Amino acid sequence: MKYTVAIVGGGVTGLTVAYRLMSLQKQNDLPIEIVLIESNDRLGGVIKSETIDNFIVEHGPDAFLAEKPELKNLLTELKLTEDLLSTNEHNRQAFIAQNNKLVPLPVGFFMIAPTQWLPFITSPLFSFLGKLRIALEVAVPKKNKPYDESVADFLRRRFGNELLVRAGQPLVGGIYMADINLLSTQSTLPQFAELERRFGSVIKGLVEAGHHGVNTASGARYNLFGTLQNGTQMLINQLAEQLTNVKVYLNTKLISVERGSEKNWQLETTGSQFDADAIVFALPSILAAQTVKELDPVLSNALAKIESSNSTVVNLLYNKSDIGKPHKGFGFVVPSVESKKIIAAGFISQKFSRRASNDYEMIRVFIGGQLAPDLCNLSDEELVNLAQNEISPYLEIKSPAVKTWLSRWPNGLPFYQLEHKQTVKNIENLAKNHLGFFFTGSSYNGLGIPDCVRDGEKTAALLATHIQQRKLQCLNQAV
Ligand SMILES: Cc1cc2nc3c(=O)[nH]c(=O)nc-3n(C[C@H](O)[C@H](O)[C@H](O)COP(=O)(O)OP(=O)(O)OC[C@H]3O[C@@H](n4cnc5c(N)ncnc54)[C@H](O)[C@@H]3O)c2cc1C
Repeated sequence: MKYTVAIVGGGVTGLTVAYRLMSLQKQNDLPIEIVLIESNDRLGGVIKSETIDNFIVEHGPDAFLAEKPELKNLLTELKLTEDLLSTNEHNRQAFIAQNNKLVPLPVGFFMIAPTQWLPFITSPLFSFLGKLRIALEVAVPKKNKPYDESVADFLRRRFGNELLVRAGQPLVGGIYMADINLLSTQSTLPQFAELERRFGSVIKGLVEAGHHGVNTASGARYNLFGTLQNGTQMLINQLAEQLTNVKVYLNTKLISVERGSEKNWQLETTGSQFDADAIVFALPSILAAQTVKELDPVLSNALAKIESSNSTVVNLLYNKSDIGKPHKGFGFVVPSVESKKIIAAGFISQKFSRRASNDYEMIRVFIGGQLAPDLCNLSDEELVNLAQNEISPYLEIKSPAVKTWLSRWPNGLPFYQLEHKQTVKNIENLAKNHLGFFFTGSSYNGLGIPDCVRDGEKTAALLATHIQQRKLQCLNQAV
């Protein structure tokens, strides 16, 4: 009899699990049948790009760290390396909003810390005293116990309040669209915590690592970011095309899981009922929590501890001639102290070629998240207007965008709170009480596309081992 694996969620993680499981099935001659259940009418989850009138519209993510090994291998296997596009090297500059102006992030500023003194000292981003305090980071004693602390506490302790407020908060909080007082340093800035531990100072560690060419962090290393010619969706399309041995059910939402009679588990969905020996939950943790609430309230509570927020991306297409004060760069982030409504804006057509033709500029505006949850309740029209009004003073925009697109991502961005790693461990332990339960995806071990690919691959490998062991057990019993 075949071993049935149900993968719930057809985002990049669920698709990676399905794809990798299919190859492991062939390699190890595993008797598996795979079904993939997706509540939406399309695959890809938050990854969605469209080509509209020669413009490539990215509705969710627009780039990824292409050098991370699992993603790199996957892109090679899927024959996508020729479609890789790196960021435009002439425009590699980011800005921070300050008093209705866009201030360039100093050259060598590495996510939370400077690594080159001259651009840092001459930057108008920080006051004289602020700069002094940041430079003194090299003399701040290192933390002597390995406890987790919030990103806000970490940055304030090492660099002082000014760096925290003017750069750290918008740069780190912007990725998760969440309050840095809640975010876990160990889970969101592990590489910087490690630099403190190893070198006694983040700045010293960055400089030292830079000298040795060490790959230290996922900061603004623009040369390492890439995308695909026709958008991130190409990865999804290519993965989906490979799933010849997978039965895919769209518009099918998992409602609950019960113990089965035929197989271990019975899945109640908005479509058919499914029997499965193993379930891979590749959906945001907070949504997985709902599906196991009846079965195991303790597991459900643990899953619900990893919260995620709703966010909105507004794509705005402008005539270049309507932008009175253009800025050469990849976009800007807005610190909370500026009391604006948007979190960031990306100049996507400057970042990558082929996003808009020469006479146009495509700008992506990020709204909501855990930082401003109520804004996602606004109507589409209100959100598009808000996006335009908010970026206008910085760029002195003279006429409204010629085209606009709005995408809402409910629960699209998990945010890792204090002791996140402990929560993940707890979920893994509780999952062991349910034979064949696996939890994977952006909620657990990294939010970026490469992290999701890595987590999906790891889950497929664990699942293959689990099935192999079951196969051996069955053979032993038969003998
Ligand atoms: C606006 C935005 C911008 C981002 N930008 C970047 C970026 O530039 N670079 C980067 O690396 N990362 C970025 N990320 C993060 C990254 O894109 C995501 O973390 C990653 O794509 C998540 O993949 P996933 O498969 O784990 O989850 P998802 O994409 O959320 O997929 C989960 C799937 O499960 C389905 N589902 C939910 N509930 C059920 C149910 N009950 N039954 C069946 N199916 C269900 C959903 O419909 C969805 O398709 C961004 C994320 C967002 C939201």
